[in-house]
Amino acid sequence: MIILAQNSPSISPNLCRLFMANYLIGNLVDKVDNLIITGTQQVGAGIYHPSLHNQSGDFITNLNFRPASEAALADEFIDNTHPIIKNRLEYLDFLNRNNLLDAPEASIVSAGKFASHAEIRVLDEAIKKLEDLEGIPRGSFPESRLDEFTIFVKFRTGTCPPRCVACWHISNGVLMIGND
Ligand SMILES: [Zn+2]
Repeated sequence: MIILAQNSPSISPNLCRLFMANYLIGNLVDKVDNLIITGTQQVGAGIYHPSLHNQSGDFITNLNFRPASEAALADEFIDNTHPIIKNRLEYLDFLNRNNLLDAPEASIVSAGKFASHAEIRVLDEAIKKLEDLEGIPRGSFPESRLDEFTIFVKFRTGTCPPRCVACWHISNGVLMIGND
């Protein structure tokens, strides 16, 4: 027979949420670590959203496109990105064409093909999957909800780089782990 103690210590809901958040972020970091160990690209990214994680028990991860061998894939990805990403990319291109981007030339060059980095790939996939999950029309997910996503980016060297100038503009609003 089990007797339940009336005054057993309990974890407050807030502490429980904090614990779960740290636990999940730890798992996200582990998954990206594993991705860049087994992949051949230099940068990996993973994304967390509570609803998507509840559904799949997993995180969406991906690598940067390889600049040479995957250039066509990158173009196809960019052509089909979610309207939030596409609109921001068009604005970014407009700023860049008119020398209005507030960044050193070297930073703009090192960003490579805008919107082809791992963090944009995972964000695009996550937004679309969330639209499907919620049954809302493709393209209707609002920018104001980008803060529901948490992204982790890591270099093969072990560092967590800040977003490049392109990714910063395109994914502005999401929560970044480690480095903005
Ligand atoms: Zn980037």
